[in-house]
Order: sequence, then structure tokens, then C-alpha cells
Amino acid sequence: MSTAAPAELSPEMVQRLSARGQRFESAVRSLDWGGDYGAEDYVRALDEVARHPAETLSLYVHIPFCAGRCLYCGCNTTVTHDSARMDAYLDLLDREMAMVAERINGDRDVLQVHLAGGTPNYLSEAQLTRLTEMLERRFHLVADTERSIECDPRRTSAGQLELLHALGFHSIGFGVQDLDPEVQRAIGRIQSEELIRDVYWMAREIGFDSISFDLIYGLPQQTATTFSRTLDTVLELAPDRVACFGYARQTLDGPHQHAIDVHELPDNATREQLFRSAVAAFTQAEYAWIGLDTFALETDDLALAQAEGRLHRSCIGYTATPSAHLAGLGAGAIGELQGTCVQNYPDLDTWRDHVVSGRIPVQRGHRLSEAGRRRRDAISHLICNLELPHAMADGCLDEGCRCGGAWAGGGVGWGRPGGWCVTEAGRFCLRELCTEHDAYCQWDRARWHFSHSD
Ligand code: SF4
Repeated sequence: MSTAAPAELSPEMVQRLSARGQRFESAVRSLDWGGDYGAEDYVRALDEVARHPAETLSLYVHIPFCAGRCLYCGCNTTVTHDSARMDAYLDLLDREMAMVAERINGDRDVLQVHLAGGTPNYLSEAQLTRLTEMLERRFHLVADTERSIECDPRRTSAGQLELLHALGFHSIGFGVQDLDPEVQRAIGRIQSEELIRDVYWMAREIGFDSISFDLIYGLPQQTATTFSRTLDTVLELAPDRVACFGYARQTLDGPHQHAIDVHELPDNATREQLFRSAVAAFTQAEYAWIGLDTFALETDDLALAQAEGRLHRSCIGYTATPSAHLAGLGAGAIGELQGTCVQNYPDLDTWRDHVVSGRIPVQRGHRLSEAGRRRRDAISHLICNLELPHAMADGCLDEGCRCGGAWAGGGVGWGRPGGWCVTEAGRFCLRELCTEHDAYCQWDRARWHFSHSD
């Protein structure tokens, strides 16, 4: 293997990647859930976790309600304007929390609480307060538990932000997507640049430790020019983190996406150009490029963790504070217990029926084999650290990825003693290549589909 870092992908690698292409339709490959995991398995896993009280826990809470449906949305959510429905949901969420906490030993420290949906900040201030009190009553949230929430800027107010901060939510994410009015019209989500600026500065003045924006490339009407204007405004505001996802058209699960005119979607070359323009803009502004699709100020925890080799990823994203287990709570919530990815019933009625009758509402899980876990760990290490020691990959990855051989020859990697490193050119195709090797990476692709919200 060459020890020099090639500047570009080989023509063969370019051909291999373009043959696969960026899939507009079904860009999220569905995870092979298998049919052999259900609520009983999850209960057994909770009982097993209970025997190890020192193992840390994180919580993912799904709030599946929105005021309207954005046309690009692939999230598990329901449009409603009935606040009583959300009260009823919180009643049941409390019962689900009680079931999980009792089994898992709720006394263990919780490292992270993440609220997503749907639109968590569609809850009223009283409901947000109640939800926080429920979490504090059922689980052991400690002083430095990292509490984060994803918010829709259109549902945000100064009073709500002050309340969230007072409730301990010091990390906040806003769904920005794109600031161009034509793009916003095409995706059915109108939010002015002035609104985004106001919400951002309110959050800054209140003192949130971390403010993140979600952007999406590959949206209808997006061009290099419009996206570059969005990037300029985002850079001017300088949020701590920016996640830049590719739009994944999913008409099978989200028929509302048919309302997006496919003729208005940018072609593959433009999609690629849009993402490359985001990478160039953020890295030139001294943001660190984290993993596959995230950018963080160099002083941010994620950037520091990546620089120090402490970055991890879970099924809800990158983190500098990994926990042993992630429990999902709420309809459609995802989690990961003992290395098994699990999901609650996304259908509200089915989830409700289970909770009302005292049954854990887990619908399915993806159980990783020992080799699968090692493969996941190796691929996660590669994505987080951009290098792969041979020792991690031996016996669990195929030759091309294991030693970087074929990938290195294609310009994706370069050899170093005991392992190989990803080249700058290789970063742009890492997701596609990793997905070939790792079911967990498919989950990583799917996380946008299941958990992205605002
Ligand atoms: S993108 Fe966010 S606000 Fe829009 S429908 Fe989906 S979850 Fe709701």
C-alpha cells in the first residue's frame, strides 16, 4: 500500500461510486431489522443492564407532534393542534418511563437527555416543565447531565427559550434547512431569515452553551448560488455546530413528499457540489469537519473530542460523552441497549395500547452478532477518527476496508504503520463505502429518517 496521500480518487473509484449514484428515491437503505427481536427480548436486556449499575445511560425522548407537515420531512410525526392530545401523550410517556426505570434501575447516572421528534418545542411551557420533572423523577439526572433539545424556530419565543435554559437544556438545535424563499416555498416551510436571526440571538443572549443548526442540501430549487447565500448567513451567525444532511426522498414512508416536484430537485452533480461548498465554507471558517456530515467550531466539545480521539457516534449522532446504553422513550423512539438497536412502535395508537396495558412498547430490534459489533466499532472508529488500525479491522471487515488496500489504491486511503488513514478526497465518499460494510452504518443513514426533527 502506498504511504503517500493521493490528492484525488482514482478514475476506477469515481466510476464505482458514480455507478451507484446518489439515490433520490430511497436514499436511506432500510435497516435489516430481522424478525427475531421483540418486547420480551428488550425486557431481558433491561434486566441484564440492571445487573450492571455502574454502566451509564442516556435517554432519547420522542415527541411526535407538529403544527404542520414540511414536504421533505421523513420523521415519525403527527400534525395536530390539540394540546390535550399532548397532555395525554405525556401521561403515557410517564408510564413508559416508569416501566423502563423500574427494570433498568433508574438510580444510575444519566449522561445525556435528548428531546427530538416531531417538534419538542411544540409542547407548551407547562408541558415542557412537566416533561422535565417526569424525567427527573424517574431517572437519575445529575448536575452535569447534558440536556439537549431540537427546536422549530417558528415555535420558539424568548419566554420558551428562557424556560428551557432554566430547565437545564443548555444545548439547543434549530432546523434551518435553507434560507432561500424559493427553496422554502418548494419544501413547504416558510421561515424568514429575520426569524432565524432573532431566534439565534435570543438563544445566545440567554446563554445556551451550544447552538446548532441543521441544513439540508439536495432540496428542490436549491442551486449553488442560493445555497452559498444560506451558508454565508449561517457563517455570519456562527452557531457552534452545523449538521448538513442530504435530502433523502422517501415517498413510500412519506407520501406527502410526492408534493415535491422531482424536476425541481438538483441533479447528482449539483448535490455533490452543494455538499462540497458546505465543506469548503465551514472548514475555511475554521470549523472542524466532524465525521460524515457535521461541522463544529474548533472550541466545541465535538471538535475537541475528534482532535483528541475521543469522538463517538451512537444511533442519534456524534457525542463526546458516550454512555453504555441509550433508552428510547415515546412513540417511534430509537435506542440502543447492549449493542442492539431498538425501536418503539411508531404508530401512536399501537404505542398507546401497549403502554396502557403495561407492556413495553418495543416493536423491533436489530441484534448485532459479535462480528457485527466489532464491525460496527471498526467502522465507527474509521468515521470518527479517519483512520483504522489493522488490529481493529482484522477478522470483521473485508480486505478492501480492513487494510485499506483497494480503497487506498482508489485514493480513499493511505497506509501508515499498523493501519491506514482516510484522504481528504476519501472523506467525500466515506459514507457510501462504509455502508457497504456495516449494517450499523445503514442505521446511521437511517437516523436522519427516524430522529431528525425540529
Ligand atoms: S421537518 Fe420537523 S417541523 Fe417539519 S414536519 Fe418534520 S418534524 Fe415536523
